[in-house]
Amino acid sequence: MQKHTDFAEFIEITPTARIDPARHGWRAKCLQRLIRLDLPVPRTAALPCDTVRAIAAGQLPDVNRLAALFDGVLVSIRPSPANPAWGGPGTVLNVGMNADKHAEFTREQGAAFADAIYLGFVQSYAIHVARLDPDMFTAEPSAAALAAALAAYEAEMDEEFPQSRAQQLTEVMRSMARAWEGTTARLLREAKGAPADAALGLVVQEMAQAMGPALSGRGKIQMIEGVTGAPQITGRFRGLNPANRKAEETLYLVKDRRGHSLEEAAPEVFAELQKHCLTCRARLREEMQVEFALENGALKVIDAVTVPRSSRAAVRVAVTLANDGIISRDDAILRVEPRALSELLHYQVDPRVPRDRIVTGIAASPGGASGRIVFSAADAQASAARDERCILVRRETAPEDIRGMHAAVAIVTERGGMTSHAAVIARGLGLPCIVGASDISISLRDKTLTAKGGRVFREGDVITVDGTSGEVLAGQAEMLEPALDKWFTTLLHWADNVRDIGVRANADTPDDARTARMFEAEGIGLCRTEHMFFDEDRLTVMREMIFADTAKDRKVALDRLLPMQRADFTALFDIMAGLPVCIRLFDPPLHEFLPHDREGMRELAEALDRPLSEVMRRVEALSEFNPMLGMRGVRIGVTVPEIYEMQARAIFEATVEASKRGAAVVPEVMIPLVSAKREVELVKTRIDAVAAAVRNATGAEFDYRLGVMVETPRAALRAGEIAQHAAFLSFGTNDLTQMTYGLSRDDAGRFMSDYVQKGVYPEDPFHVLDEDGVGELLLIGSARGRQIRQDVTLSVCGEHGGNPASIAFCRRSGFDYVSCSPFRVPVARLAAAQFALTDQRDSEKMY
Ligand code: PEP
Ligand code: MG
Repeated sequence: MQKHTDFAEFIEITPTARIDPARHGWRAKCLQRLIRLDLPVPRTAALPCDTVRAIAAGQLPDVNRLAALFDGVLVSIRPSPANPAWGGPGTVLNVGMNADKHAEFTREQGAAFADAIYLGFVQSYAIHVARLDPDMFTAEPSAAALAAALAAYEAEMDEEFPQSRAQQLTEVMRSMARAWEGTTARLLREAKGAPADAALGLVVQEMAQAMGPALSGRGKIQMIEGVTGAPQITGRFRGLNPANRKAEETLYLVKDRRGHSLEEAAPEVFAELQKHCLTCRARLREEMQVEFALENGALKVIDAVTVPRSSRAAVRVAVTLANDGIISRDDAILRVEPRALSELLHYQVDPRVPRDRIVTGIAASPGGASGRIVFSAADAQASAARDERCILVRRETAPEDIRGMHAAVAIVTERGGMTSHAAVIARGLGLPCIVGASDISISLRDKTLTAKGGRVFREGDVITVDGTSGEVLAGQAEMLEPALDKWFTTLLHWADNVRDIGVRANADTPDDARTARMFEAEGIGLCRTEHMFFDEDRLTVMREMIFADTAKDRKVALDRLLPMQRADFTALFDIMAGLPVCIRLFDPPLHEFLPHDREGMRELAEALDRPLSEVMRRVEALSEFNPMLGMRGVRIGVTVPEIYEMQARAIFEATVEASKRGAAVVPEVMIPLVSAKREVELVKTRIDAVAAAVRNATGAEFDYRLGVMVETPRAALRAGEIAQHAAFLSFGTNDLTQMTYGLSRDDAGRFMSDYVQKGVYPEDPFHVLDEDGVGELLLIGSARGRQIRQDVTLSVCGEHGGNPASIAFCRRSGFDYVSCSPFRVPVARLAAAQFALTDQRDSEKMY
């Protein structure tokens, strides 16, 4: 014998009933609010989660009291989880329909209406409750179809279609309760952030029967358009055509040229609906989509949900509600998901169009772009010269590809992870990028890309990169435009007023700096200077410098680079107009500037007027087994000090020049890859001397700040003594993560998804800061630094600087600012404001 659940707990929703969203679900709570607002909601009852859970566990509900509450009427049963995003089983309508009701409806409304309702219920009961084959129950309504469906049910189930209301209620609730516990439903809601023990409530509501001589039907209405958020009455109404009253048809809500509208057919109902929407907006403090029924001319409000909306509409709605005094500015800030902002900054592949997917990889930089495939940086530049949009497809990218990357509209690499070269550069440039697309194979010889099933794409074929979803698509796709509108700007200004951690941008070029200004970054937190040497004319001089046999020869080459660097820095200072600019001294291994193939070496030998064998010997001598752990960063600064001296001179001369025109510039000079205090001392002595020389030569006074990039574990551990010589410590969490894990940032993409799927790492640590490990080094480094030098400025300039969870960590740890790619600056500004607000609200709750 199965036990009966005590149904004392179901509760009729009245204005004063004790409805708790955690127990009865969001839908029950929302319906209670509508009832309190005096909206014409049909009788409704809520079943709490614990009861639904007991039903799923096998207890049979005693539905007599519930059936009595809805005596003689049909009901709908809808899911009501705590959060609408968690979904739930589909609504079942017209529960209680049986032969008696069919006879009653036939008498009152005619056979067609009665057949349609009964058949609809038998179909949904057979498919969703009895789990019979849907193919047997798909006929259009007619008396014959109804008879056939009832017969099919009886044949399959060996019993008559249930006629008892109590049995129908019991079985529908049981099937919904069990559907909620199913594995697929569980995985789907967990992906939307539901906890493992998320529970389901149910809402039982008297059906508003869309029938009668006066206008009848069902519909939905909302006062805004869901893609842009602009005011516009939108929705549908489906009912009998008021002109001929025969066929059921869809009416538009608002009068227009397309045909009949609800506005014309029932102007008073239309006005009442608008009034209800406005009441919901003012009192529920949200733009709601109202579901309604017209029952013989009388309006019923069945349900209301927040209007489904794009990110762009979400921003506009939040700002407009605050401007109208309905919510506070703080609430507006909290209502927009920061990550969604990046959708507004780029073209997006229109989500409504069908997709012909070639491969899915890691979504490394958001946005969408279509263009012709090219397989080399040189071809990308050639395409751009012809004014042709191209997509650069590579196994992986290297610093020498930078010009080609600039020329492309999007980038795809077969290898790499979130902080591989392609990913970092693309985010900086705001280009859509997919890395780690390991299911494609690229043949550089044949200039083809082969997808997993063997489909081949050639150079010149048009493809689309959706960097937001990580999908590469065949052909050209429809795009949605970026939207840096006044609502976006307003929301971010409100965010700036409450945020308590700074946000700077990583910017290497004048273009980057302009983007950083456009997104209102508070300065440049990292300028990677090496990218300035990849211009064709500079690369040759750079190579001459590398090949110089004597310090004198080296100086000749560096003297030629000096004015170029000075012009680079002057441009940055001018654009940033007095905002801080942090310039990192040269960082990569020198071999990155040398050709890798024989042809390139031959050309170099010719350019340098040296024998090919010598060039090959030099290249060989500079190659390292583990270049990322070899001669790079400050190690070059210590062993070949002239490079840093040239850069320092360029920075200081640019400072003097830019300060003449505008606000006094106080440049920040940053030393990369430090692991020992002595490295800083050696470099500092030389840079101080260069500053003194420039002051002497120009007669101008200027200040500068020298700081250290903490990106080796040892630098974090020895941050105390290092801070003696550093005005700031900027944590380069890309290298720091690489070195803490002993995990190559350029190769990890190959197995990262396996690692995350198997739960080895909770997330890709190059994407979300590993608070337990790398985070502890940040805490140790910042505490030791501050102990020795209280006013030392602390920041993060790795890619984590643009990740909301990592920003929260930096804020909690007392960092002064984060620095991220310019296109992530708006996300960081909003996320930082939200953390400040939630902290503030939590502490107000405590006191
Ligand atoms: C870092 O290592 O975190 C960093 C910002 O430098 P890069 O990415 O240039 O190595
Ligand atoms: Mg680094």
